[in-house]
Amino acid sequence: ISEYRHQNILVIGLAKSGLAAAKLLHSLGANVTVNDLKATHEDSSVIELSRLGIEVICGEHPLTLLEDKKIEVIVKNPGIPYNNPLLTIANEKALPIITEVELAYKISEADIIGITGSNGKTTTTTLIYEILKTDDQNPLIAGNIGTVACEVAQAATADNVIVMELSSFQLLGTIEFRPAIAIVLNIFNAHLDYHGTREDYVLAKSKIYENQIQSDYAIINYDDHEVCEMSEKSHAEKIYFSTKKDTVDGAYVMSDAIYFRGEKIIDLKDIVLPGEHNLENILAAVAAVKMRGASNQSIYKVLTTFTGVKHRLQFVDTVEGRRFYNDSKATNILATSKALQAFSQPTILLAGGLDRGNEFDELTPYFESVKAVVLFGETAPKIERIATEYGIEVIKRVDNVDQAVSTAFTVSEEGDVILLSPACASWDQYRTFEERGDIFIQAVHKLK
Ligand code: ADP
Repeated sequence: ISEYRHQNILVIGLAKSGLAAAKLLHSLGANVTVNDLKATHEDSSVIELSRLGIEVICGEHPLTLLEDKKIEVIVKNPGIPYNNPLLTIANEKALPIITEVELAYKISEADIIGITGSNGKTTTTTLIYEILKTDDQNPLIAGNIGTVACEVAQAATADNVIVMELSSFQLLGTIEFRPAIAIVLNIFNAHLDYHGTREDYVLAKSKIYENQIQSDYAIINYDDHEVCEMSEKSHAEKIYFSTKKDTVDGAYVMSDAIYFRGEKIIDLKDIVLPGEHNLENILAAVAAVKMRGASNQSIYKVLTTFTGVKHRLQFVDTVEGRRFYNDSKATNILATSKALQAFSQPTILLAGGLDRGNEFDELTPYFESVKAVVLFGETAPKIERIATEYGIEVIKRVDNVDQAVSTAFTVSEEGDVILLSPACASWDQYRTFEERGDIFIQAVHKLK
């Protein structure tokens, strides 16, 4: 019988994870109340919960709610900041505030592989999932691109293994959460607006290692000293990965091949996924699946066919000798600089989008193989300025991504890479980066 049975639990913030958490807790016999500032009683999720007999309070955070409902535990949506007035009161009362990831852990019969980091989470999560699937290990995937963690955990049995992408927001709300395998990919300056300081951000991520025990595995980026430092908390067996050092205990690169603990896994030339940053993701994935006993054959099969997660330096197609890549997820300069570093062939860069007030000078160090730029969106003039200063000869301005593809094709030659990596958010012209990427893909297919 679940520890949540008959407990008075408040779920704050509906969205996908709040909805799943409320339904799960209700099915476990908890007395659930849901509170959401933006939801209305016409929303389908609110109607669904009301039908189950769950009370949903919309449009306000009543300050007496915790008293009125004698709340014992709070489940918060990862996006809601801790300075929310209700959470402040909860803190004063020392009530546990958890996220649905903690719930998922509590109810899961399956082992969990947890993946966090500033960049590369989705790619690494997907790689691990694909390899374990090829290896017939019944993996389930949870996170950004998949289903909400607690829903997946409810469906899982001991025969499964859950591959779980974790944001620092989700990790902050964990107490006992303990993945059998924990991976921290890297730490960059991100989300500092939410976490306050870099220390808080690092602390949140380090929670993934915190409760691990000796029989677990901590997978650690040897090349990132902050990740190494935070792993000192873990009592698990430490497995390292490195793109730079070939003597680490774990996954590394030697003589243009990937090795794991002295055993050759695959030649780099056989790997489809481009980019040095993806090599880090691959090494982390190799380390994880090897600790689950995956065969080298399964790893090889996935690495020789996996073209990337959609919109993340995804190989789309070759048209008349031009290779097209969709990196629409690249909404900042760092991401686009990574994409540009992935190619040594002549590259035509398609970029531009929402103007957040920043300049783009930090991109120019990566322009070495860029032969042309095709620009669209609000930031087109700013990127044009740095491209001109750098001396890029072909600079074109167009109205949208669709036109950008045909223009790029016109100025291209056989052997070129045509890369959509906008370095900007999409919201000036498109609803989401996914929509922008889909339009790119369609436009490429139209060329045929
Ligand atoms: P996340 O899920 O953490 O946002 P993704 O796998 O979706 O990460 O990749 C998003 C972008 O981050 C990629 O397009 C790429 O530009 C960059 N990226 C991916 N992996 C890494 C890495 N290991 N180091 C640095 N940047 C990376």
